[in-house]
Parts: sequence; structure tokens; C-alpha cells
Amino acid sequence: MRLLFLGPPGAGKGTQAKRVAADLEIPHIATGDMLRQAVTDGTELGLQARSIMERGDLVPDDLVIAMLLERVNREDAAGGFILDGFPRTTAQAEALEERFGGAGLDAAVVIDVDSEEVVRRISGRRVCNNGHVFHVDDAPSCDGELCDQCGEPIYQREDDQAETVRNRLNVYRELTEPLISFYREREMTMHVIEGVGDLDDITGLIMDAIRS
Ligand code: AMP
Repeated sequence: MRLLFLGPPGAGKGTQAKRVAADLEIPHIATGDMLRQAVTDGTELGLQARSIMERGDLVPDDLVIAMLLERVNREDAAGGFILDGFPRTTAQAEALEERFGGAGLDAAVVIDVDSEEVVRRISGRRVCNNGHVFHVDDAPSCDGELCDQCGEPIYQREDDQAETVRNRLNVYRELTEPLISFYREREMTMHVIEGVGDLDDITGLIMDAIRS
């Protein structure tokens, strides 16, 4: 199954996509995570992407498409995958159509959260370098400085500062949200899920929707 998780930054896509991927035993492919890794590793791609990501803008389509296609062509993705953060533009969606035929995907889970809640969630988000995620109010780490799971320092992502979050939200509304109509026109299965409430309940709703 080739699934897409779509929604504004801070909707909880990453958290939910990871859970569902583990449950379905397929890889969770998150282009934001891949790009952050490239920045950390100081690769050519990372050098090109770094300042764009810090501003909350989109990395150029050709770079992201090449990175994504390389990833989905690996053996572990042959039986399906969950995409988180890709496609973000029509050109990226068209690249999937070209690669896989049809709409490129089997179904999308759209996680809906309003803008005010998104800003509150993201500006309070803290992470460690191993990808563990906390929130200053909703899910604080024990001492506020070190990750409870791996002991690494936790910090605020450069692009999680309030001003950048507003830009990311505008980019989402302008370039990524239109993909909902793009996929509706192709009559792809779409499950719209309210992304507010208990995490386990939301995972349950998503799993029920996917299985139905
Ligand atoms: P995310 O972790 O999904 O919020 O992504 C963090 C940042 O990585 C985004 O704000 C973009 O700058 C960049 N990025 C991630 N995925 C894509 C994509 N599919 N196309 C362009 N830029 C992306």
C-alpha cells in the first residue's frame, strides 16, 4: 500500500505516520527528516537545502523529487510505504504519477488542525538529534533539557520559531493544500481525520479508516 499523510505542519502527521507505518510494517518516508539528515551530514544537498529550510520555504522540486525517487526505489519500499511531507507541490505529485502510474498513490490520510493550534504546537515543540519529539506544555521532557529516551540535548528546530511557522503555514495553504483537490479530481481515496485529541484515539481513527 502506498499511502500519503497530508496536513499542515504541526498536525501530528509525523507522529501518526510513524505509528501507522510500524503497524503496517512498511517504511515511513519523511522528506523533512531526510533533508535534516543531509544538513547534519553536510552533503551537497544539505548545503543547498539548509537556508531554505531555515526560512520555512520549500526546497526546489528537482532536488526533493530526485531524493524521494531514490528512496522509494530501494528494496524495503517495494511492498509499499507511507509518505510524510511529500508531495508538497503539484510537480512533486506528478513525479509520483509518472513513477507509479495512476494517481501514484493508493490513498491519503488528511490530518486537519486549525492554524492557531498549529502555531501553538510547533512553537512549543522540542526535539533531539535522534528524532524524539517533546512539547513544552503537552509532553515535556523530565528536566526540559535532555531527551528522556536517549539522553541527548533537546532543542527548538530553527524552523519552529513562531515567525517561520507562519511562513510554513502560508506555504502549506498556497502550495500543498491544493493537492487535496488534485487527488479528489483523480478520485483517490481520502480519509479526513480531525487531528485534535488523544494521540491513541487519532491513531485508532486512522487505522480504522485505512482498513475500511
Ligand atoms: P517537515 O519536517 O516535513 O516539516 O519539513 C521541514 C522542511 O523541509 C520544510 O519546511 C521544507 O523546507 C523542507 N521540505 C520537506 N519536504 C519537502 C518537500 N517535499 N518539498 C520541498 N521542501 C521540503
